[in-house]
Amino acid sequence: MASEIFERDRHVTFLQMEYQLLPSAYQSQEINSLTLAYFVISGLDLLAAPDRLVDKEAVAKWVLSLQAHPRSQSELDNGQFYGFYGSRSAQFPSEDKDNGALLSCSVSNLASTYCAVAILKIIGYDLSSIDSESILTSMRNLQQPDGSFMPIHTGAETDLRFIYCAGKTVKAFMELLFKPFNSIYLTIGHLSYDGKLEWHGQGESQGVHNKLPGGATYCGVTSLRLMGFIEEDILSKDAKSSIINVPLLLDWCLQRQAADGGFQGRPNKPSDTCYAFWIGSVLKVLGGHKFIDKKALHGFLLTCQSEYGGFSKFPGDFPDLYHSYYGFTAFSLLEEPGLKPLCVELGMSAIAAIGI
Ligand SMILES: [Zn+2]
Repeated sequence: MASEIFERDRHVTFLQMEYQLLPSAYQSQEINSLTLAYFVISGLDLLAAPDRLVDKEAVAKWVLSLQAHPRSQSELDNGQFYGFYGSRSAQFPSEDKDNGALLSCSVSNLASTYCAVAILKIIGYDLSSIDSESILTSMRNLQQPDGSFMPIHTGAETDLRFIYCAGKTVKAFMELLFKPFNSIYLTIGHLSYDGKLEWHGQGESQGVHNKLPGGATYCGVTSLRLMGFIEEDILSKDAKSSIINVPLLLDWCLQRQAADGGFQGRPNKPSDTCYAFWIGSVLKVLGGHKFIDKKALHGFLLTCQSEYGGFSKFPGDFPDLYHSYYGFTAFSLLEEPGLKPLCVELGMSAIAAIGI
């Protein structure tokens, strides 16, 4: 029978276990090691877990060892991104399929770079001691005229996720926002007929985003908030001044709370733990979080809480790190005692985000 309370101690044990050794099911996700580490370390931070659970020095050393460095100043302009690799194996040179030659190109990417920066910030590492120049300089080369970003190197696809990762990384280094960010709304400020934000950029991701509107809407709205295009709690202010249609977006988000209390990513889909964060965060940014049926959401999330700690995607399934992390963030949004308040735009505890 599902527990009727948020089992904080079990969640800490679950994350502690994943910190020490990931189950074999994660083998195929080795390439995403930094992202998985972000879920564990930021999760422990949100759960206000004692510091002794994480060897901060060892974590910082491991994360910093994954930074890509250009071999020369001129290499910085070769169109590659010099951020953080997703894992140790991502640092290995890859083979050219046509002639078997080893390619030494960097395969660091925007998503793992933000995870690296977030982990370092959470464990209290001084970000000013990171070589941020190569990250920011090569990131500028990835930005397109419409304000969007390619995630790895020039010529790659662009989409909302990468604008969001770039925005967070730039914020973390306290840089002045890149000028082309001012044109960002041309790319993402499009509301569909029903209120959600839609991606109108180029590349394969357009299809992905049409299938995942809840996540795309989160990336769009929080990017706009990070870049100052949306004021905090805009609902209680002059919504007409916004570049998005707030009432329409609010309506679309609130309609995603299903009869079972959980949130769905789009109409006619089952409720899923992670959308309590994706949609809940958009509502928080807009100032519409107060309209959520919190009791019903609380009840749904508890049906996804595993007896071993962690959360699953759907009720009764096995827990996974991704849904566990977004389960914790969802409970933080519900102001569950024992959880730190969340900075929804940056996806980490508000206290860790201070200074970003
Ligand atoms: Zn999910």
